[in-house]
Amino acid sequence: MSETESSGQLPERIPIPGELHSFYHDRPFVSCTRCGESLADFPDGYRISKNFKKGEVIIEYALCMPCLTGMLKEASEESKRNLAEFQEKHFRHISGFDECALCVRTREEARYEEFGLVGVCQGDEMVDSALICHDCMEAMNGVLSEETKRTWDRFRQENFPGVPSDFEPFPPRPAPKAVG
Ligand SMILES: [Zn+2]
Ligand SMILES: [Zn+2]
Repeated sequence: MSETESSGQLPERIPIPGELHSFYHDRPFVSCTRCGESLADFPDGYRISKNFKKGEVIIEYALCMPCLTGMLKEASEESKRNLAEFQEKHFRHISGFDECALCVRTREEARYEEFGLVGVCQGDEMVDSALICHDCMEAMNGVLSEETKRTWDRFRQENFPGVPSDFEPFPPRPAPKAVG
C-alpha cells in the first residue's frame, strides 16, 4: 500500500452540501433525471451536476450510474478516446468546489462566472466532487464528435427544453471510486 499524498487524497465522505441540492425542488435530489428511479436504491451511487452562470442555476440533474454509464456508452469511440486523453492530460487530481479540476482557474476566475459543479454521491453522502470552469467545459465539448453531441443534445432536449447546448457534456470521472 502506498502512502496517501495530500494532493491526491480523496475527500472524506460528507453529507451532500446544500449547493448540490435541487434548486428547483428546494431539497436533495431523490430520483434519476433520466430513468426516474430512486437514487437511494443504487448501491454504486449517482452523480449530480449543476451548472451556474452569474450565480444562477442554468441546469441541474442527477444521473444514476446505470444511466450515466449508458450515456457514456452511447458516445462514439472517437469521442471516448478524445475525452479520456483530454482528462488524462488536464486532470489535476483535486476535489472540491474551489478550483477547476482541469486547469488553474479558481471558481472566482471562471469566465462569465460560469462553471459546473459535479458531485459523486452515494445515499445522502458525497464521496467525490469537482468544479469545471467554463473554458474547460468548452474545451471538452470541442473534442466530442458530432454524433456524440447529438446523443447528449437528445438527453438535454428531452429533459431540459430551452437550455443551451454548450455545457459540460460528460463527467471528468466516469464512475466513483470503489468504496473501501
Ligand atoms: Zn437512471
Ligand atoms: Zn478549467
